[in-house]
Amino acid sequence: MNNKLKGGCLCESVTYQCSSEPEATMLCHCLECQKWTGSSYATMCLFEDKNISITGKLKEFKVTTDSGNLMSKFFCPECGTHIFESSAWLPNYTALAAGSLNDQSLIKPSAQCWTKRMLPWVKETHELPAFEENPPINT
Ligand SMILES: [Zn+2]
Ligand SMILES: [Zn+2]
Repeated sequence: MNNKLKGGCLCESVTYQCSSEPEATMLCHCLECQKWTGSSYATMCLFEDKNISITGKLKEFKVTTDSGNLMSKFFCPECGTHIFESSAWLPNYTALAAGSLNDQSLIKPSAQCWTKRMLPWVKETHELPAFEENPPINT
């Protein structure tokens, strides 16, 4: 129904295409996702491995997660964009880093996990002063 989901890294040396809709889309607040994304939480889309085709070279980094599982994280060695992760905990599935999609408006999260690690102010971002572009700088 939707156009095929496509994405890739910032320097465009890695690209991918998905042949299905995500099985699930989730926000994850765990510590590894915070570190890995360099942000406050991750948005991840779960796909069966066979439904994603990737071109380009990725670098793998292995880490033991909060829940004790060994996780492989894959990113572009040139620009550092995070592309996906996989774990023996969920064989045959790939968790795609949604920020690498060309158009994130095509997906919609349906749940959040590791909320015990959620930063308390994440729930309050809509209350912050908001600027459509860069904030004004007072010099
Ligand atoms: Zn890249
Ligand atoms: Zn996580």
